[in-house]
Amino acid sequence: MEIIHVSAECYPVAKAGGLGDVVGALPKYLNEAGHIAKVVMPMYRTKFLNDNDWEVVHKGYTNLGSYWFTYTIIKERTNILGFDLYLVDIFGLLDRTMIYGYEDDAQRFTSFQIAVVDWISSWSHRPDVIHVHDHHAGLIPFMVKYCYRYQHLQNIPTVLTIHNAQYQGWMGWDKSSYIPAWDPWKRGMLDWKEMINPLASGVKCAWKVTTVSHSYLDELRVTANGMEALFEYEKGKCVGILNGIDNIVWDPSTDKYINDHYSVKTVEEGKLKNKKLLCETFDLDINKPLIVFIGRLVGEKGADLLPAAIGDSYYYIGRKMNFLILGSGFPQVEIELEHLKSLSQGDYNFYAGYNESLSHLMYAGSDFILMPSRVEPCGLNQMYAMRYGTVPMVRNTGGLRDTVIDYGEAGGYGIRFNNAIVGDITQSIWRAVELYHDSEKMEEIRKQMMELDFSWESSVKQYIDLYKSL
Ligand code: ADP
Repeated sequence: MEIIHVSAECYPVAKAGGLGDVVGALPKYLNEAGHIAKVVMPMYRTKFLNDNDWEVVHKGYTNLGSYWFTYTIIKERTNILGFDLYLVDIFGLLDRTMIYGYEDDAQRFTSFQIAVVDWISSWSHRPDVIHVHDHHAGLIPFMVKYCYRYQHLQNIPTVLTIHNAQYQGWMGWDKSSYIPAWDPWKRGMLDWKEMINPLASGVKCAWKVTTVSHSYLDELRVTANGMEALFEYEKGKCVGILNGIDNIVWDPSTDKYINDHYSVKTVEEGKLKNKKLLCETFDLDINKPLIVFIGRLVGEKGADLLPAAIGDSYYYIGRKMNFLILGSGFPQVEIELEHLKSLSQGDYNFYAGYNESLSHLMYAGSDFILMPSRVEPCGLNQMYAMRYGTVPMVRNTGGLRDTVIDYGEAGGYGIRFNNAIVGDITQSIWRAVELYHDSEKMEEIRKQMMELDFSWESSVKQYIDLYKSL
């Protein structure tokens, strides 16, 4: 089968979170399974673009409403990622350094999608599946079905994967002319609550919809940022497929971002060496457990709870642990986390920003990773952490619920808590400190987690079965 993945992110080209990791891995494993999976994404001005070799494969001319533009499709020449990678360039819209966060994101991603469909419509053959990811590509199932000029594509099966339903790409109806002339009877297929909602449109128009864990799919019927009723209505075409992790990129015995490699046999010494480097770099105490947080500092991740939870832990439990936080997001949270640095007694630090190599060192060198998420569609951090022998402390939600069993239960290995509130987080920190001092149990859990299999193998099989069913 030939499967075209359309996404705003793909690791290592451009990544802001889990979407990038998944789109950078799933196609590779689909190819390994004997299929032809390709990725199409915007041509941001990233380091990857400058460092690699490209050829122009297509030039087209199309329009976003009354704005006519030329787009260019380039292809990476060497198959360096294990799949064919295509980038779409649109002068003035996609030629930016960042992925998101511009005022004209609606224009940027709509024109990107139009260019992709326009390009596919020029092919002399049809792909077997168009697989779109999140709202940035959510209008494509509508376009291939209902835009007059793409009618010849309407029999191509489309799959939408929802990595995060919080962001839906809402646009006012004043922007309806952006979408190439479409059957006006199908207005309802774009609309959700009087807005053009690309994610809702994707759910309505795609042949199948997947979410990145089973529990997240269940939760979406109850809480989906206004789209609950739609998920309930469309449940027949929705299926949860847990993300895998790329075991080649995320392997403590070969990880290119860390110097002190280790395996399950050498986990104790290996982790200690990486912890030493972290503690020296960030002025932390190597003799205390090291609890880290890696991620976007937003409400979904429960990041706003961190300052109070850290303060309360020091107050109620004592200065028995280190905290190291990596992330960026809400300015107020950043300010509070920055402020805590001035109160550190060699047991707290905060790195504001995005840093891929530091994140790898943190997975390797920490003892615990804290994820007090309010919403976690799948969550990759806990799976990476476990592969590196780091104990996850997670709220019982979404993919965290599907991947972490509390060590108090039979066969368990992590720490789980029920509510995204300071009290529950503080209690989990207390449990982490207790566990840390039970070195025998800690060693047993580390080894147990490193043996767990979160590879793409079984998830890829489920995607292939899904494609075949179409
Ligand atoms: P998200 O909701 O952000 O997509 P996921 O758990 O699915 O959450 O994926 C998060 C990915 O982004 C992981 O690979 C994590 O290591 C990475 N990440 C998040 N924030 C940062 C950061 N500040 N620096 C480096 N990597 C980060």
